[in-house]
This record gives sequence, structure tokens and C-alpha cells, in this order.
Amino acid sequence: ATPVAIMVGTGKGAKLGILFKSAESLENLHNSEVVLLDKTGTITTGEFNVREVVSNKLSKDEFLKIAASMEKNSEHPLAKSIVRYAEEQGLEIEEAKNFKALAGLGVIAEVKGKNYLTGNLKLMMEEEFDTSEYDNYIEEFSAKAYTTIYFADEDSVIGIISLSDTLKDSSKEAVEELKSMGIKVAMVTGDNKKTAETLGEQLGLDEVYSEVLPAQKEQIVREHIEKGQRVCFVGDGINDAPSLARADIGVAIGAGTDIAIESADVVLIKSSLLDLINAIKLSKATIRNIK
Ligand code: ADP
Ligand code: MG
Repeated sequence: ATPVAIMVGTGKGAKLGILFKSAESLENLHNSEVVLLDKTGTITTGEFNVREVVSNKLSKDEFLKIAASMEKNSEHPLAKSIVRYAEEQGLEIEEAKNFKALAGLGVIAEVKGKNYLTGNLKLMMEEEFDTSEYDNYIEEFSAKAYTTIYFADEDSVIGIISLSDTLKDSSKEAVEELKSMGIKVAMVTGDNKKTAETLGEQLGLDEVYSEVLPAQKEQIVREHIEKGQRVCFVGDGINDAPSLARADIGVAIGAGTDIAIESADVVLIKSSLLDLINAIKLSKATIRNIK
């Protein structure tokens, strides 16, 4: 495109809260063949609410106290809502020791001299915990697209907490629009398989990748590129930075983390996926103007 067409496109974008960092991103976005979407914070708002607390081993309060103490040091949105919920219940939260975040999996910490582990099903499988006594709950909660995390002590699973995230109003429409433009739409998430699949069905996604570690997100981007597809990745988190950098076009969304914004080619200031549609249309219009 001519410098003038680029200037016009960039200016129109800025007014809509769509920041193109380079001429190439404005020129190339409309060529995208596959859009890979992060789930939490991108398709959903990432504001979790505790819905279910189940322990077959401890009283609900005892269990919740351990859970909140473990999560107190975690930056993860799941953790923050568990701590808030426990506080609302008037529970006293302990100082945890030896806290360690396991990216894309969960957390380990010591509470009152005992070691605990929390995280997704994948982590429990890796650590060879038997989760089967909670299977009935998981089935019920996953069907509601809740995110469920497990808690275990040194011997066995002590309970689960299930949280709802909120689908952004704009997400379903945006997915439909992308598909009608002939673009394949997939979701990539670290969340449990069943939860991810429920959401995938609700949105009509072409593909769903779940239980994915941060490094594997980038691998998925690379595999699509190697198949010769032009890939657009949309995400908001630290976890997404490598994928945003790897994709043909990386799009950071909303009040994303600084590192996500730095790694992206396009930034959608408002947190709506419909602005991805607007950005693609702007890209098309910019190219048309030069012809
Ligand atoms: P996403 O890809 O959905 O943004 P993350 O990669 O941040 O998710 O996390 C993937 C999964 O790891 C979560 O769905 C959760 O099961 C588990 N997890 C991450 N952090 C924590 C935590 N602080 N406590 C419990 N589980 C966690
Ligand atoms: Mg995210």
C-alpha cells in the first residue's frame, strides 16, 4: 500500500482503538487463514467466580482455608477469585511457604507444615493422583463450561473447586463473522479438555486445543505455519507472548499484560473480538485503496 493509504488505515484504526504497529500488519492481517484464540481473557473476560467447593475429606471451611492459603501468592485470576471467596466467607488465610507456580498447570505450596498441590487434571495425572471419586462432579461442572481445579495433599486428592468464567458478549458473533469470511477459528487453552470442548461447541469453533502448556501454544502456531497456513494468534497473557511473536500476525487484546502487547503486531484496546473483524476489514480496505 502507499504511505498515504497506510496512514489513513492506521488513523482509522486508532480512532476505533485498533493499533497497527507496522505497515505490514495493516497490509497482511486480511490474508489470515486461521485465527487461533486464547481462551481466558480473550474469548472470556477472565473474571472467575467460585461456583462449587467439594471435599470428600475435609469440612468445606477447612478445605477452602487450605486452598486460599495456597493461592494467596498466585497471580492467576483463578487464584485471586478463590482468595476473595474465602475472605467473603470470613475464613482466615494462612501464610504459605515454599510457594511455586507451575506455568499452565497449577501451584505447589506448604500450608501449616504440609505440602499441597493444586491445578488441572493434567497435573494430577502427571503426579499420579486418583481423581476418579470426583468424576461425577467434573462431568456436571464441565457441561456448564466451569473450570475445575483439583487440590491434593501428599497422599491424595482432598477436594475440587469449580469456577465460572464469563463469555464476552461479542465472542460468539465474532467467531461467526470470522467463519463467514472463510477463516478457520480455533481455541488454544491450558484448561481441562471437557470444559474447553463445551465452550468450543457453544461457539461453533472449528478446532479446540486444550490442556496446552505455554510452550506448546507456540508449537501449535508453528505447526499451522509449517502446513503453509497464514496464522493470526489472539491473546492477552504472558503465556501468549511466544505465540503472538511466532504467528504471522499477533494480536493482543484488551488490558493485556505488557509483554503480550510488546510481542504483538496489532493491539485491540477495547477487549472485544469484534474489533478483530474491524481490523481485518480495515486491512482489506487499505489494500483495495492502492489498487
Ligand atoms: P489459559 O490457557 O486458559 O489462559 P493457563 O495456562 O494460565 O490458562 O492455566 C492453565 C490451567 O492451569 C488452568 O486452567 C488451571 O487448571 C491451572 N492453573 C494455573 N494456575 C493455577 C493456580 N494458581 N491454581 C490452580 N490451577 C492453576
Ligand atoms: Mg489468556
